[in-house]
Amino acid sequence: MNERMVELLACPVCRGAVRLEDPVRSAGGEIAEGALRCAGCGAAYPIAAGVPRLNPPGEGATEQARVGEHFFLEFSTLAEEDQDFDPPDVLEYVLVSRTGIDPLVYSRIPGDLYRTSVPTGPDAYRPDSSFLRGKRVLDAGCGGGRLTPVAARHADHIVGLEYGPHVDRAAARCRGLENVDIVQGSVLDPPFRDGVFDFAFSVGVLHHTTDPAAACRELARVIAEDGALSVWVYPPQYWGGRVREPVNRAIHRVLSRLEPRRALSVCRWVLYPLGRLQMALARRPWTKWAAAPVFVVSVPRHPRREVMLTTIFDYFGPPIISTHTYEEVAGWLRAAGFKSLRQLPVPSAWFAEGR
Ligand SMILES: [Zn+2]
Repeated sequence: MNERMVELLACPVCRGAVRLEDPVRSAGGEIAEGALRCAGCGAAYPIAAGVPRLNPPGEGATEQARVGEHFFLEFSTLAEEDQDFDPPDVLEYVLVSRTGIDPLVYSRIPGDLYRTSVPTGPDAYRPDSSFLRGKRVLDAGCGGGRLTPVAARHADHIVGLEYGPHVDRAAARCRGLENVDIVQGSVLDPPFRDGVFDFAFSVGVLHHTTDPAAACRELARVIAEDGALSVWVYPPQYWGGRVREPVNRAIHRVLSRLEPRRALSVCRWVLYPLGRLQMALARRPWTKWAAAPVFVVSVPRHPRREVMLTTIFDYFGPPIISTHTYEEVAGWLRAAGFKSLRQLPVPSAWFAEGR
């Protein structure tokens, strides 16, 4: 943790300022161990392995904590080399297209928003991340740190906030990047002072919380008055069409009640083989037609085994998955005070500014 973080952080309970206690510095001068003491309520929060730990106290047995356990296991199933299953130019495209920071990207790189490659070559359009230049940015729900290092190439300072224990994975991925800080905390109670960020983005996160509208309000609180917020959450079509939706939802209901390890076992031994069968049957139109009932379950596919398994677990496994229309998300953003909203072609996503 960079020492300047002490000026940005706040108690997640009372929003009081925090002061640094007993810091142990690493060779590079960063704070590796220590504690943060709240000046308001006196609560103490540890700094361990370079990460300040500011989860709201007493959440051990909540549904939100179970979500954290799910994602810890999800990110742990991927080996370090598999984490980079998308090449850097695709990750740049993902960051730009999901946050809307370059509105031209949708027309200049048209087609599938869930692409695994982007056009290259001398005439190819490059997603433009210059919006981030000179800004302090919050990656609200940074997961295993997939997009944080991408944003770090452009932003002045980026802070990755993550709730579950896999926050250490994000910290490991960003080690050595001087303009990155990783913080453990919740998007529902972001442990930051008011108005400290110029821009915050939350990509695929708020639909895994108990109250996405409240998270929007809280993210707006930590953004400066003239700052911006990008939010992408799952749309209602997440669960598939009329036929598939009840089946997919039923599988989610069963899996989300299991211990994460048991849910992952079901994905590995039932849903993954079903997905491979679907891939084999889909190769010829007549087998796909003849075996139509096999396709009633939406199993995410990927050529690499571990990535496909992780994606299946990601689709069916999180204890909380909600879906939201564009209008609903716009309502949260307006209630959070934003007046200028730009709808993004990634459903359901908005870029919000102007308070
Ligand atoms: Zn406090």
